[in-house]
Amino acid sequence: MIKRLWLALGMFTLLGVSISAQAQKDRFQQKVKYEMDVKMDVVSNQYTGTQKLHYTNNSPDTLYRAFYHLYYNAFRPNSMMDVRSRTIADPDRRVMDRIQNLQPNEIGILEVKSLKMNGKAVNFAHEETILEVDLLEPIAPGETAVFDMEFFGQVPLQVRRAGRDNSEGIRYSMSQWYPKMAAYDVRGWHANPYVGREFYGNFGDFDVKITIDKDYLLGGTGYLENANQIGKGYEDAGVKVPKSSGKTLTWHFTAPNVHDFMWAADPNYTLEKKQIPNGPMVHLLYVKNEKTEENWSKLMQYTIDAIAYCSENFGEYPYKQYSVIQGGDGGMEYPMATLITGHRNLRSLVGVTVHELIHSWYYGVLGFNESSEPWLDEGFTTWGTSVVMDAVFEKDPNFTHNGSYRSYFRLANAGYEEPLTTHGDHYNLNSAYGPGTYNKGAVFVEQMSYVVGKENFDKALLKLWNDFQYKHPNGNDVIRVFEKVSGLELDWYYDYFIASTKKIDYGVKAVEADGNNTKITLERVGMMPMPLDVVVTYQDGSQELIYMPLVIQRGSKPEEAGIPKRVATQKWPWTNYTTEVSLGRPISEIKSVEIDPSMRMADVNRENNKMEVSVEMQKK
Ligand SMILES: [Zn+2]
Repeated sequence: MIKRLWLALGMFTLLGVSISAQAQKDRFQQKVKYEMDVKMDVVSNQYTGTQKLHYTNNSPDTLYRAFYHLYYNAFRPNSMMDVRSRTIADPDRRVMDRIQNLQPNEIGILEVKSLKMNGKAVNFAHEETILEVDLLEPIAPGETAVFDMEFFGQVPLQVRRAGRDNSEGIRYSMSQWYPKMAAYDVRGWHANPYVGREFYGNFGDFDVKITIDKDYLLGGTGYLENANQIGKGYEDAGVKVPKSSGKTLTWHFTAPNVHDFMWAADPNYTLEKKQIPNGPMVHLLYVKNEKTEENWSKLMQYTIDAIAYCSENFGEYPYKQYSVIQGGDGGMEYPMATLITGHRNLRSLVGVTVHELIHSWYYGVLGFNESSEPWLDEGFTTWGTSVVMDAVFEKDPNFTHNGSYRSYFRLANAGYEEPLTTHGDHYNLNSAYGPGTYNKGAVFVEQMSYVVGKENFDKALLKLWNDFQYKHPNGNDVIRVFEKVSGLELDWYYDYFIASTKKIDYGVKAVEADGNNTKITLERVGMMPMPLDVVVTYQDGSQELIYMPLVIQRGSKPEEAGIPKRVATQKWPWTNYTTEVSLGRPISEIKSVEIDPSMRMADVNRENNKMEVSVEMQKK
């Protein structure tokens, strides 16, 4: 009996191991399917809607509660967003105290009027920007529940991202506008209140009908299913659009495999569209006037070039459409579309479009979590923006990522830097969030190419895309991809550069004659260890690269193109503050010794990175 029990247990253990290995391999993803029907009143700026949500629980957990985001409730006096903006030391100047001063017809409202689960009414409570729902019956692993909802909204006067009548007069920037089921993943529910920072949602399909005054032109996430009834430039070539007799039109959009749905509307929008061969249809929607006309007429080609570049280098854009829409309060990314302000010079207009477009790869398709790991999304996107702007607009004469490095150095030396593992809403200062997530995040990416070598880096970037589309990879997943491609251990790189604010500072301490030999002394001044590229330039103009990997990375990066031959591989344990390298050549032949002339290593003090050999040093 005992023997048999052990055998049985052994089998269970084996089975258990294989099941959990499988689960790890294919991380679970909750699935949502929304059908919404919305009626917008363009006089009162209020709307009513119905929503049917098919929610599939692919997690191994039984769910007893559920949470919806009700983002528009942030735009009311004394909301968390309002208080946060009035108490943080450096408020976003778009917000300041504007929420406190909103009048009743200017505040945002998003209220759930009724909610049924599988046909039966359920209890729910509004907790400002979150709806808390007690499920009638739990949703077991693998089960799909159907939620039917009626909701009511009032579009806030535009303060942040979404709203009506923005600073450029665009009537409706409709992002974060519907009750949206909070994401559930391996870390549980993500029902964080809307305080200011960005978004995270489970992937699914949207079917949205919007009824609105027939003078309005709409655009956003999703394909217009009834383009030949709507017209306004959306109709197929040669189609005669029937005249509508009523006051309104109903626009029908569908969007497969996205994690959000944004739309925008204005009676004065111009629509331009262009089909990229073997790529998406590109839409531009903007109000044509003296502030937009000239630069927006050039934007289409830049957008097409940027999509082509990204598809070739970062992975193929998977949707059939991308829309650049004038609206919002700066630039904000949504699936298949962006809302940007339009009164800009050409560089700024192209720059913001390229930036928001690149989010389609990282936030849009990979699905980085913008709220708990904003550095991943903004970091990769900012890195990509510099690369793509160099390729399609104008090459930075200094160094492609010069702006990001300079911003990070300022932050690192400012004294208020925070670890990038901080949740986006919980940074002490906006001025730590911005330069940190965008620029230190971009430095993390570019510096990775220094750590693993450019060739491995390019391969890993595509592997990340291939392995993690629609899977919400986290920081550790990213590190693991680079580890697998390079064969190096990289946990230390994440632990120091992302999870801490320790800084990199290496120096060339001494170059000394040692008989017929030359001895270099290198020192680590900063607390973060890094592998070193040390380039020795000889009097005859030749160069050699001495590569010094960290012991804890358990390997070496391969030789990189364009970098002179590596002559030695010497281990430098991180516990040692200094190390000595023997060059094997007399000091009379040495011109200079320099750490990382590629400038990819984020050394916060480059003053001590290079030593020229002087006549005095040669005499010693
Ligand atoms: Zn961004």
